Formats: sequence, structure tokens, C-alpha cells
Amino acid sequence: MQCNVLIVGFGLAGWALTEALKKEGISFVVYDPQQSSSSRVATGIYNPVVLKRFRAISNAKLLMEHALPFYHQHKYIQAQHPIPIYRVFASAGEQNAWMVAADKPDLSTYLNTSLVSSTNEGVYAPFGLGEVQHTGWVDTNTLLDTAKDDLIDAGCFAEEKFDYDILSITPGGVQYKNVKAQHIVFAEGVGILKNPWFSTLPVIPNKGEWLIVSCKELGLRQMLKSSVFIVPLGNDTYRVGATYDRDFTHEEPSLEGKEWLITQFKKVVTLPFEILFHGAGLRPTTIDRKPILGQHSTHATLWCINGLGSRGVLWAPYLATLFVNAFKRAQKVPRELDARRFLMP
Ligand SMILES: Cc1cc2nc3c(=O)[nH]c(=O)nc-3n(C[C@H](O)[C@H](O)[C@H](O)COP(=O)(O)OP(=O)(O)OC[C@H]3O[C@@H](n4cnc5c(N)ncnc54)[C@H](O)[C@@H]3O)c2cc1C
Repeated sequence: MQCNVLIVGFGLAGWALTEALKKEGISFVVYDPQQSSSSRVATGIYNPVVLKRFRAISNAKLLMEHALPFYHQHKYIQAQHPIPIYRVFASAGEQNAWMVAADKPDLSTYLNTSLVSSTNEGVYAPFGLGEVQHTGWVDTNTLLDTAKDDLIDAGCFAEEKFDYDILSITPGGVQYKNVKAQHIVFAEGVGILKNPWFSTLPVIPNKGEWLIVSCKELGLRQMLKSSVFIVPLGNDTYRVGATYDRDFTHEEPSLEGKEWLITQFKKVVTLPFEILFHGAGLRPTTIDRKPILGQHSTHATLWCINGLGSRGVLWAPYLATLFVNAFKRAQKVPRELDARRFLMP
């Protein structure tokens, strides 16, 4: 079997790559055992604003323009939840900072200048709320399942682990089992730490824990953001998260994580609730918080897309587009995203 690109990993990075390749008529085969993935446990929020300090993330407009057409396709309609975020203000000072930020050109599209008073008796917000517009969340499981089923039907998805030991790097590309490809892209999330060609890249696993709670009568229709996000899932259930922990000792949900999440939830929601689920996952993060699009220094047919631990939903489509531009049009990867930034001064 011949194809242009072999993809290892089908989280958001691998998925976005399949979407970008399909658009350009570039053939591919995906390998993923679908056993654990950061994307499948992600809340899936897309939001171009840093809500701690009220500033836009770098490349906010560019990332939003690339990301939304990927997610807002009709076939993914069940996965789309375009709803605003209400930021809970902790003080009058934060209200003022919001109004100042909302006047800035890069934020005025997103931060609504009309402050909101909470009319929801279950929400404690004495300093009011600020609305972030054009945000939402993606049900990543529904999205990835829909996409995977289509790829299985098209005969280009192998639900199995990729064995690095049996990859042959040939003059014309790579060969893996019966598949010959011009390039291979590794998109394995924290699995990169076991990759013989890219494991030296500084990808740092960061543990995130979250809760699913049932809270009758809360009736939230927007996402709430305080120290945690509270995301309405329907049927009086909410997702509460997440924690950030680089110094974890195990990958399972922890008592400390659970207690922290409960404390943060109770600071904002005054109604009784029941915990339905407590989960944990590992984000693939980088030291400079930027993702990595990398080409191996010796074997130019080997690539990796990684480091999507922070705002992976927004970054994945843009990185996929950059890969296609490099592959098809020989365009250079921006230096700030290139893996070589870690290797060269
Ligand atoms: C709790 C939590 C909440 C988050 N919330 C958000 C959020 O709200 N918004 C946001 O933008 N981001 C969020 N993120 C971060 C982000 O969504 C993910 O980190 C990002 O999606 C990572 O995508 P990825 O495809 O690079 O990696 P992954 O999703 O981890 O996918 C990697 C895939 O590679 C496969 N793989 C690994 N090794 C092999 C191998 N040898 N052979 C074959 N396949 C292999 C794995 O099976 C996996 O499916 C969150 C993360 C966590 C943990």
C-alpha cells in the first residue's frame, strides 16, 4: 500500500492533520490503538483570551480563523457547543481591568463591555461577571469517534499501536509493515517520550484532574470561569476542572485533586451537588508553552507535532495547516514553533 503520509497518533493533533490532508487530496494512513489520549479527556474549550490577566493569547486571531472551520463542519454538529464564557470577577479592581482590556483592539471582539450581574441564585458573584464572546467547547470524544469511523470506512485507520522498531527509513520515505509513505508524522502526545527519534524534545507531562457533577437547579447555559471552568453538559450535569500538576507521583485521580476541585466549585456555586465522576489525564506541555512542529535533523521524512497541552483545541488545526504548507509547498515552519528552537541558539 502506498500513501503520502503515515500518521502515528489520533488525538486532536493527528485528527487535524487528517482534515488538512484530505482538503489537499494528500493520502494518509493513521495508526492509533485508542487506549489513552489527552484529547479525549480534555474539556475541549476554545478561547483566545488569557482569563487570569485579560490579554489575548499570541496569534489569537490567526488561531481562531484556522480552528473554527475545522470544528464547525456539519459532520461534527453533535460535537459543537458554541457558548460564551462568563468570567467571575473576584474584585472591583478586576472589573476595571476588564473594561480597560476590552478597549484594546485585539480583545474588543471577545470581551463584552457590558458587565453582567448574576441573576442565578446558585452562583456567588458579588462583583459580577464579564462575557467572553465567540468561545465554546468541543465534545472531543464525539468528534474523534465520528472522524475515526469515517477513516475506518475509508480503509485508512489502523486501530493498533505503532511499533517503532519495525519502521524502515528508505531513500524515498518510510516503510511500515505493508505501507510505504513519503513522510511519517508522529503525533503521540506524551507518548513521544518513548519515540526513538524525538524523545529528546522537552515535552513535559502535566497532569489534569476534573469532576463531573450533578447540580439540580443550577441551570447554567454559559461556561463559568473562576479558578476553574464550570461547563454545562446538559441534564443538570457540569464538568469542573481542571488541576495542573507537573510534579505528580502517579497518573490516577488523587484525593488532593478532588478536594481542590470541590473547594473551587463551592466558592462559586452555592447549591448542593453530587459527584458523578472524577478523572485524570496527562497534557503534553512544553517549557515555553508553545507547541512543536518538528522535522528530524537527520531524517527529513520524519516529523512530529506535539506540545499541544495548552490550548490544543486552538493550535491543532493551525499546526496541521503549517505541516501541509511545508509538505506540499516547501514553506518554512515559523521558528517559534519549530522543534529546532530547542536545539539551536
Ligand atoms: C484534563 C484536561 C483538560 C484539558 N482541557 C483543554 C481545553 O479545555 N482546551 C484545550 O484547548 N485543551 C485542553 N487540554 C489539552 C489538550 O486538549 C490536549 O493536551 C491536546 O488535545 C493533545 O493532543 P495530542 O493529539 O497532541 O495528544 P493526545 O490527545 O494525547 O493524542 C496522542 C495519541 O497518540 C497515540 N499514541 C501514542 N503512542 C502511540 C504509538 N506508539 N502508536 C500509535 N499511537 C500512539 C495515543 O493513543 C493518543 O491517541 C486539556 C487536557 C487535559 C488533560
